[in-house]
Amino acid sequence: MKNALFVFALTLAVDLSAQTRNPITAEQALERLKAGNKRFVEGKTIHPRQSPERVREVAKGQKPYAIIVGCADSRVPNEIIFDEGLGDLFIVRTAGQVSAAASFGSIEFAEAVLGANLIVVLGHTECGAVAAACNYQKPVPGHIITLVNAIKPAAMRVEQLLKAGQIKQEDFVNATVRENVRTQVEQLRTLEPILANAVRTGEVKIVGAVYNLATGVVEFLPETLNP
Ligand SMILES: [Zn+2]
Repeated sequence: MKNALFVFALTLAVDLSAQTRNPITAEQALERLKAGNKRFVEGKTIHPRQSPERVREVAKGQKPYAIIVGCADSRVPNEIIFDEGLGDLFIVRTAGQVSAAASFGSIEFAEAVLGANLIVVLGHTECGAVAAACNYQKPVPGHIITLVNAIKPAAMRVEQLLKAGQIKQEDFVNATVRENVRTQVEQLRTLEPILANAVRTGEVKIVGAVYNLATGVVEFLPETLNP
């Protein structure tokens, strides 16, 4: 059994080392996402790579050029807001884009095995999970508490700004959306062993962004673009 495990680990190691990076660099990926979102906002979408031919093409394998870690909110469908198609984006979505072990494994797989060079943590304005965390004194049922607990540290930091009069009450949720994204970017950048190492070697770039529900615009947070 021990021997079998060793062979499995070895095979995995060989597979990981044999992977090839996506030819689209992080900077090019960022420009491509911005261009797609611009088409979406201006009503000029081209719905690329969504044909039956594309279905057959990607059946042979995938090489997504970016990883999106986004909220599960039905109003933020990633391929639509970036005007992309099949095989373009590797997307991990949970409410409040809260990550735990299964999400981390999925992101690591897309980075290390599929070779994507850009990871975008994508929050959005008026996020329900973030609003629940801003209201953390109020009990929530079931596993929803997992989301609240994960976002709560960001909400508490913003609450201090609120108490100090540095932000207005009506901006509490959206300021926390941004703080939550910044926190999650940092969490992924320091996630050992795969992502932290990929960040150190410059193999991957991890940035934060916020989608505006009212306008459709994705704003990439400048403070996360040049760490
Ligand atoms: Zn949300």
